[in-house]
Amino acid sequence: MRGVTFLGNRQAEIREFPDPHAGPGEAVVKIRASGLCGTDLHRYRGSEPVDMITGHEPCGVIEELGPGAPPALAIGDRVMCHHYAGCGVCETCSMGYEQLCPNGHVTYGGGTAHGANADYILVPSRTLVHLDPALTFEEGAAISCGTGTAWNGLKKMDISGRDTVAVFGQGPVGLSGTLSAKAMGARVIAVDVVPERLTLARELGADHVINGRETDPVTAIRDLTRGAGASASLETSGNPTARQQVLECLAPFARCCYVGVGGPAEIDFNRDVIFKMVTIFGSWTFSKSELIEIARFFVETKTPLDKLITHRYSLDQAVEAFREFDSATTGKCVFVMN
Ligand SMILES: [Zn+2]
Ligand SMILES: [Zn+2]
Repeated sequence: MRGVTFLGNRQAEIREFPDPHAGPGEAVVKIRASGLCGTDLHRYRGSEPVDMITGHEPCGVIEELGPGAPPALAIGDRVMCHHYAGCGVCETCSMGYEQLCPNGHVTYGGGTAHGANADYILVPSRTLVHLDPALTFEEGAAISCGTGTAWNGLKKMDISGRDTVAVFGQGPVGLSGTLSAKAMGARVIAVDVVPERLTLARELGADHVINGRETDPVTAIRDLTRGAGASASLETSGNPTARQQVLECLAPFARCCYVGVGGPAEIDFNRDVIFKMVTIFGSWTFSKSELIEIARFFVETKTPLDKLITHRYSLDQAVEAFREFDSATTGKCVFVMN
């Protein structure tokens, strides 16, 4: 089968790998859609080669089931994958947060186990959940990391129609945050430095967009909130300046959530945390049960998640796909296979 690896320094490569087969407790999923996510870009831009198959947003159809699979799974089922495996039995794994297993974990497509930018993926069958018939494979792939990450950050802050939410970064995760916060009823202020992405944010429902290269976002957010500041903010970019601004733009008693991975940032704890009495959350993707909850939200609210997906590629276009995603002007990019 084909699989996409990275040679280092922004070079993707399509390589041949042996077809996987399911052993005890394992499943082979035929990939129908595999999303490109910001974390992939960090590795793509890095100098180290990634010899394992990339892609951690798998969505497809069960092709093979090894002995010991849950009886609720059958060959041909449409599935998403909670793309981590810890020990599977400890308290943290039992919560569905295998990525936080104290005994260690692997991430499928994250450099420690083969991923989904391939014709097939081999995963423990316990990581699979059914994909609702109302969702496309592409939507399922998006939910499986980037979109789910944004949604869960908003859930942690308990976002509602009483909120003005500032979403920093309008890449695939930030755009998902904009779309989801609107669906939760909030007023949304979208911040980025790329005009194409701000245009997409508007199309996905942002009430206001701010280009941080032209305008100071903190001042602009205060101007849009009668001087008060935002009641909540979501940081998706990992940029050190944005990491400061998500706190600085908040009103007293507000909350913020960090989901974007990036470098260290300086925080003025007196001014921005203590004397404003804000609450800070951190969030790393979601649990397996939250993956089901997030998918259900998009089904039941009929939120148009497909509008997020701006670029579709065949696996053979992997080099072009990563080059375009790296340009930071796209919405969600997805490999689509038949
Ligand atoms: Zn564990
Ligand atoms: Zn991801």
